[in-house]
Amino acid sequence: MNYAFYIHLLAFSLFQALSAPAQHVTKAELLGQFDPSEHPDFVKIDAAYTTKSDIYMRREAYAAFELMYAAAAADGIHLKIISATRNFDYQKGIWERKWGRTRYMGWADFAKAKDILTYSSMPGSSRHHWGTDIDLNALSNDWFSTGEGKQIYDWLTENGPSFGFWQVYTPKDDGRLGYNEEKWHWSYLPLATSYLQTYNDSVQAVDIRRFRGAELADSLRIISDYVNGIER
Ligand SMILES: [Zn+2]
Repeated sequence: MNYAFYIHLLAFSLFQALSAPAQHVTKAELLGQFDPSEHPDFVKIDAAYTTKSDIYMRREAYAAFELMYAAAAADGIHLKIISATRNFDYQKGIWERKWGRTRYMGWADFAKAKDILTYSSMPGSSRHHWGTDIDLNALSNDWFSTGEGKQIYDWLTENGPSFGFWQVYTPKDDGRLGYNEEKWHWSYLPLATSYLQTYNDSVQAVDIRRFRGAELADSLRIISDYVNGIER
């Protein structure tokens, strides 16, 4: 921490005080049924922050990220967004690509889905639909355990929450259910906490549909164990 960090923190507090109430979110948005490039609450992520050419975040989460990025840079930490908002169609692409892997030949559908769910969400149940969650630097817990990766992880753990960003997929030794630990996945909780509430109030297993294996959403307890399987 340094002087610059406190300036950013002050700016962020001011920003929070002045910003409008948490942006409204609809059930369709939480299910990923929209195009972020055409949605007024979403902004394109500047090339300075990402390796991808056309990715988006919710405006408020992005403003907080920009402040966090600057504070990190002042401490010699270089954050890089490698994934942000993914809508239903994008997540369906990820899911069905994995579903069709040759190594799953002969597997029962339930076991196959369970295995994919180690790290990947069913379409309609991903926090990446919400525009509040980002993947940073590398999709590897090992990478964040040594060297530059560890420096970045330690910085995020200490400072991320000051900017609203938290690791939600923590180690599972505390009995947390759902996805395995993801040291790269950071969630902007000032929005995402209320989005989870809205999700729980409006979405049911029958709403998770239209992709291969979707009929298993209920028996796999997707909403109770995966969507809600987070550290809060
Ligand atoms: Zn992620």
